[in-house]
Amino acid sequence: MNIPQSKFPRIVIIGGGFAGVNLVKSLANKALQVVLIDKHNYHTFQPLLYQVSSSGLEPDSIAYPLRKIIKKHRNSFFRFAEVEHIDANNNEIITSIGTLHFDYLVIATGTKTNYFGNKAIQEHSMPMKSIPQALNIRSLILQNFEKAAIASSKSDREAYLNFVIVGGGPTGVELAGAIAELKNHILPKDYHDLNSSDMQIHLLEGATRVLPPMSEHASKKAEEFLVKLGVHVHTNAIVKDYDGKIVATNSDLKLNTQTLIWAAGVTGAPIKGLKAESMIDKANRYKVNRFNQIEGYDNIFALGDIASMSTENYPKGHPQVAQPAIQQGKLLGKNLLRLIKKQTLKPFVYNDKGSMATIGRNKAVVDLKHYKFGGFFAWFIWMFIHLMSLVGFRNRVIVFFNWTYNYINFDKAARLIIRPFKK
Ligand SMILES: Cc1cc2nc3c(=O)[nH]c(=O)nc-3n(C[C@H](O)[C@H](O)[C@H](O)COP(=O)(O)OP(=O)(O)OC[C@H]3O[C@@H](n4cnc5c(N)ncnc54)[C@H](O)[C@@H]3O)c2cc1C
Repeated sequence: MNIPQSKFPRIVIIGGGFAGVNLVKSLANKALQVVLIDKHNYHTFQPLLYQVSSSGLEPDSIAYPLRKIIKKHRNSFFRFAEVEHIDANNNEIITSIGTLHFDYLVIATGTKTNYFGNKAIQEHSMPMKSIPQALNIRSLILQNFEKAAIASSKSDREAYLNFVIVGGGPTGVELAGAIAELKNHILPKDYHDLNSSDMQIHLLEGATRVLPPMSEHASKKAEEFLVKLGVHVHTNAIVKDYDGKIVATNSDLKLNTQTLIWAAGVTGAPIKGLKAESMIDKANRYKVNRFNQIEGYDNIFALGDIASMSTENYPKGHPQVAQPAIQQGKLLGKNLLRLIKKQTLKPFVYNDKGSMATIGRNKAVVDLKHYKFGGFFAWFIWMFIHLMSLVGFRNRVIVFFNWTYNYINFDKAARLIIRPFKK
């Protein structure tokens, strides 16, 4: 893999997500060699993927080149590769571009879409875990509008204009709200030949309320906002089957649609090779101790979504959101330096800063420890936090400009079919 020999210990980090990037930053120019490996050459800001899917943002504004993150780190290298196997006995990883020896290995590979074993849904639905997938959704939505405009039967038109989103967590809620804004503000302007009331957005959630991880207050408010935007919210609704045309559920509800967006869950994306007992089977996450060391290994660590650290407050592991990944990445950087100097490691304590979701313009919900609120102020806070969390000044400026432009003009300017989606 053409990584030079070094007198310093080599730390290999797999995954340039929130966890990997924060770790690599905390090891900048220290007395060790860092190799960051990712199957993408960019970091993805996943919380804003739904805005790419719904034509609100260009994909480039939520991605950031990983090489640019480490350009001033004299001790760091990036390799664009997929890691396929770990040989823990020989301290080696096997990748799509070769084999690499490590002294310390950090797995920060995040999650992948969970279809809960339903092959039909996997084959016909649209996942939204990566930028290419978000672009597929964007193209499909716009292609459907074009097809609806020339559909010869009511049933065909209905299928093109029915959008079904499965999963009422933050991703599903945010996407449903954004697609409703397309219906309310874009369709009437761009498609005079279509009746916008023919477009239906259905959000299906298996639990008794949307946003199940958030407070009841947030769920209630979010549902109110969604209904106001014209979204049909179905709770206790579990999708059983989808053949590319009809969505079948656990009730009489059947929906005729060309578009089923699957936002119903994720499962860990581990790499083959470690002992079976170091994994939690159901969640596909590595069992880690308070220092993010994987059970059964001294020099192999896991961080972020892929790591399950059982603590008193989080017996089933931390929530799979950005903050635990960021905080673990920063702490592991310090702990690795301590480990090398044979100093005592500091245990991880999660600082929960609260959770939030946005449903549309002026509509968001925020749950803080002692305060829960919704509406314009929540939306403003949501925008500010997401803007400041984006990687790169250029991305912040572009997103800020786009949001201001879209807000003033009721627009979503990126409605382009650049690479048509083929089913
Ligand atoms: C649509 C969506 C919306 C979300 N919204 C929010 C939100 O609003 N707020 C929030 O806090 N969280 C949100 N999350 C969750 C948040 O994005 C994750 O918790 C966070 O990204 C986890 O960080 P991570 O570093 O563990 O993994 P990730 O950020 O997923 O990074 C994993 C990296 O590993 C790489 N990788 C994986 N396997 C391999 C391999 N074998 N070889 C090489 N590279 C590999 C991937 O390419 C990726 O770059 C959202 C997630 C999604 C999908």
